[in-house]
Amino acid sequence: MSIQVLKPKYHVEECLAEIEECLRSGWTGVGFKTTQFEDQWKRYTGLPNAHFVNSATSGLHLALTVLKRRYGWSDDDEVISTPLTFVSTNHAILYEGLQPVFADVDDSLCLSPHSIEERITSKTRAVMYVGFGGNAGELNAVSEVCRRHDLALVLDAAHMAGARYLDRHVGSEAAVTVFSFHSVKNLPTADSGMVCFRDAEDDETARRLSWMGITKATHERTDEASYKWRYDVPDVGFKYHGNSIMAAIGLVQLRYLDDDNARRRSLAASYRKALAEHARIALIPEAKACQSSQHLFQVRVGHRDEVMEELYKSDIYPGVHYVDNSSYPMYRHMQGACPNAAAASEELISLPLHLDLTEDDVSYVCSALIAAVEKVRV
Ligand SMILES: *Cc1c(COP(=O)(O)O)cnc(C)c1O
Repeated sequence: MSIQVLKPKYHVEECLAEIEECLRSGWTGVGFKTTQFEDQWKRYTGLPNAHFVNSATSGLHLALTVLKRRYGWSDDDEVISTPLTFVSTNHAILYEGLQPVFADVDDSLCLSPHSIEERITSKTRAVMYVGFGGNAGELNAVSEVCRRHDLALVLDAAHMAGARYLDRHVGSEAAVTVFSFHSVKNLPTADSGMVCFRDAEDDETARRLSWMGITKATHERTDEASYKWRYDVPDVGFKYHGNSIMAAIGLVQLRYLDDDNARRRSLAASYRKALAEHARIALIPEAKACQSSQHLFQVRVGHRDEVMEELYKSDIYPGVHYVDNSSYPMYRHMQGACPNAAAASEELISLPLHLDLTEDDVSYVCSALIAAVEKVRV
């Protein structure tokens, strides 16, 4: 049987029971399970606000649109970001007409605080930080840089559901933190996400914008039942809110998140043990002060593409997270600016890591990887 890089695990019977409640009551949309899931997420993370959306990509866009309006940023103000990420992180900056400026990553594959500081100009307004693979990297130092330079910190925590940093769930460091509940992430629904603003006012703005810019506020104040259909639309908003079917799945999956992440860390520890001694396989340093959600387990090797080809022959299908975004046309003008990210992009392999994986699978993958690395060097 083939071994895939990522694979969701759903608690099917429990999910079906929660979904059935939605279908029988006829309430599949916003409210009901979405509100329950938001409340549970706030309780789980300790974050003050949580707005359930249809994807992390929507959440990242909402994060920037809300901050841009609030602080009156202009088009071509700059947002420092990483070239080593899923393109959503950087597309969100372009959606708002802002300018992405890439800084370089450190050994953790997260943005380096020093590189960020070097790229700050009079136009810099925010930093988009990705907790790569569930690892916080130097998040605390980055948050300090942002405080010192009066920049908004946006945490792309797509990999970080359940990640703990400095003894609490990650997210409170940032003005806004965005989680993904896409099917291959640590808390799989099918497609959804959570955007968590520090300020309640920003949360309220995001809720209005995620439902076309509609507000009922003025009419809720009148008791006139006949005017329930009347609402105001002060903004050109988006269709970004989540629905109760996805939230129903999320409520179930959240119950298992801590156990699932512990299992991921245990598999990762087995990988580390088996690969630590190998001179041609470099491991990503373990996170400091961070209990990683271990979304990914990555190694770095030379001749990466040939090593991948060899692994396919053993029916192992690893992945690459990620290709340097400056190789895509809309970011190409920044090519060459981030040598560490460019080098990582050529060497990274994400080894299979998911909840159907056994210890035997890990041993099998490690043997195949070592054999592949030995083979391609000659
Ligand atoms: C998956 C991912 C996203 C996008 O998440 P969706 O929920 O699929 O929109 C954003 N950023 C990073 C780093 C991701 O891995």
